[in-house]
Amino acid sequence: MAFTLELTPAHHELVRRAHTFAEEVIRPAAAKYDQLQECPWDIVDAAAREGFYSPLFYADMIADPSGLSLPLYLEEIFWGCAGIGLTLVLPALALSALNQAGTPEQLAKWAPEMFGEPGDIKLAALAVSEPQGGSDVANLQTRAVRDGDDWVLNGTKIWIGNGGIADVTIVNAVVDPELGTKGQAMFLVPKGTPGMDQVRRLDKLGHRASHTAELSFVDCRIPGDQLLGGADKLEHKLEKARRGEGRSAALGTFEQTRPMVAAMALGVARAAFEYACDYASRREAFGGPVIENQGVAFPLVDIAAEIDAARLLCWRASWMAANGVPFHLGEGSMSKLKASEVAVRAAEQAVQVCGGWGYVSDLPVEKWYRDAKLYTIFEGTSEIQRMVIGRTLATEASQTPQHHQLPGDHGGLSRKFGHGSLARARAGEVFMKLAQKAPDRLLELGGRLASPGR
Ligand SMILES: Cc1cc2nc3c(=O)[nH]c(=O)nc-3n(C[C@H](O)[C@H](O)[C@H](O)COP(=O)(O)OP(=O)(O)OC[C@H]3O[C@@H](n4cnc5c(N)ncnc54)[C@H](O)[C@@H]3O)c2cc1C
Repeated sequence: MAFTLELTPAHHELVRRAHTFAEEVIRPAAAKYDQLQECPWDIVDAAAREGFYSPLFYADMIADPSGLSLPLYLEEIFWGCAGIGLTLVLPALALSALNQAGTPEQLAKWAPEMFGEPGDIKLAALAVSEPQGGSDVANLQTRAVRDGDDWVLNGTKIWIGNGGIADVTIVNAVVDPELGTKGQAMFLVPKGTPGMDQVRRLDKLGHRASHTAELSFVDCRIPGDQLLGGADKLEHKLEKARRGEGRSAALGTFEQTRPMVAAMALGVARAAFEYACDYASRREAFGGPVIENQGVAFPLVDIAAEIDAARLLCWRASWMAANGVPFHLGEGSMSKLKASEVAVRAAEQAVQVCGGWGYVSDLPVEKWYRDAKLYTIFEGTSEIQRMVIGRTLATEASQTPQHHQLPGDHGGLSRKFGHGSLARARAGEVFMKLAQKAPDRLLELGGRLASPGR
């Protein structure tokens, strides 16, 4: 499907429903859960009743060939509250790993366990990062060793969203240390598995409605059928890796989810931006609204343009992912980099515009300021996104703009006679010559027909 900015009636309805849910259910609870720093179970339940919390909901969104359903939905939900939003989407990040690395049987069995249903909510987690390093995924130390049909996990995971309270945790572990990221595998670990423990809940700057924890694995025994993809697929993957082929399952998951994180950041950016514009229009100083000062308006103007630019990058990357167009030039990373950085700037500017009121919790902007910072850190820091994009700069593909590589319209007629074609240019020349000899009335008519539409 070609990239389009034209939203379908279904897209508009999704945006309307998600925005209403964010405004009426999420926002009123945001400050409470930010203070309590607890999982917002009642909001997750309400989301499930609204149809926003189930594996089929995400499967349906991902199946949209325009790629726009998921970013549209996420921007609205995170506009409501980033912490509550993160709680709602963490199972989808785990689901994405299950979908990419698991067998169809594993997907059918475990996906429902990750979400539950209204009245019986379940949670899921994706555990990759470790205390000695999150960016350097090749340096993970958690080991999985085969013992008969089972696997035994030992190690520590940190900053794990829903860690310790999740019904299903997908754990990335090293099975062959010689092979770096390609020597890793993912395991399904259900809640209550002996040997997996929550060490501590982490006290965070922002996103405080999302539970984040450190996990330990001590001789944690996992049955063989909880290895994602199964033993044969793993053996095949390791063989390929020994020949220098293949890729890491964890890194593959992050690549796919980056445009989605961009959409989340856009929700926070937009919330802060809208609030700042509204406040600056109402707040008076020196006899008029502060927005009438260019010193206040111009930074907001820059943010307006940057939010739109980041959204276009996000939608492009989402469309590429939906249509199987590979991210040759780091397009997923570009979207995440730009959206996360504009979220931080928008929230900071909102605090500035609100002055002293922006610095205290009477207004929501200080929370957005704390929430926004996470986007330049998790799912790959801004520096890591720059590294990913930077690596493409030396390749041949980067020498032409990205759209030169996109699948084109193969219609022969359009290629020959479409706008800008040589045939149209020649026809124009002939018309101009004829026009010089034509009577005035005919010339006027021709001019009208040939003029671009207004
Ligand atoms: C609230 C929160 C939730 C999270 N949720 C999850 C989760 O659910 N699951 C999960 O697995 N992880 C999660 N993470 C972990 C997150 O993905 C990592 O924190 C992140 O990848 C960065 O890793 P690090 O903290 O170890 O930083 P480090 O890798 O130690 O990096 C430290 C600094 O050095 C920079 N740096 C590192 N290498 C380079 C380089 N080569 N060039 C330039 N700069 C470099 C980094 O950009 C960063 O600024 C979460 C983190 C937070 C804070």
